[in-house]
Amino acid sequence: MMPAHHQPQSVTESFVMSRVSLSQLQNANRSIQAMRAMFDQPNAAPALPAPAAFDAFTLPLMQQAALIQLTETHVKRALIARLLEDAQDKPQAEDYRALVDLGLAERREADRWHHLTRAGVEPAKILTQKLCLRFNVHMLTEGGDSGWQVRYACPCGFSTMVRRSRTAWGNAATQHAASVRTKIGIGNLVQALKPPGMTEG
Ligand SMILES: [Zn+2]
Repeated sequence: MMPAHHQPQSVTESFVMSRVSLSQLQNANRSIQAMRAMFDQPNAAPALPAPAAFDAFTLPLMQQAALIQLTETHVKRALIARLLEDAQDKPQAEDYRALVDLGLAERREADRWHHLTRAGVEPAKILTQKLCLRFNVHMLTEGGDSGWQVRYACPCGFSTMVRRSRTAWGNAATQHAASVRTKIGIGNLVQALKPPGMTEG
């Protein structure tokens, strides 16, 4: 559980919060440039969590797009647009077939469209979170409360409970910003450790 009145924990965080106003943060999903400026300097990264599901981030770009296409999230369109902004093409039948071969998608006899399999749900979710971090697609929204506390979550995978108050959103946003900085720091480290040829972007 997080403290009700979250205080800036470092010089860096104070610096970030002074540069980015609350209203900017409230439109964080739209102010991609501001978020970039905020998060461009990765902090020292903590230890990596153990990988769980299939890492769809390693799939070819078109198969990533195909996998995201099969998920039903409000950030889907933003991610597809960013994934394919330099491509002349869209995912084709062969891309969906590749997902079927991997066990991530299926198409039943009577169906026209592919669906995620149960095994595909988690990889698609994790890929969504990674792409949100990569493309700085963030939308911190309130989702349910229990008594004193209210939950905020972002499609980048961030989730928190804060005390319900006038500053609840701001407190959650401060935690969100710190979380994104840490995750981007880890991502940069992972990229740096990859052998040549696997890096992208
Ligand atoms: Zn986020």
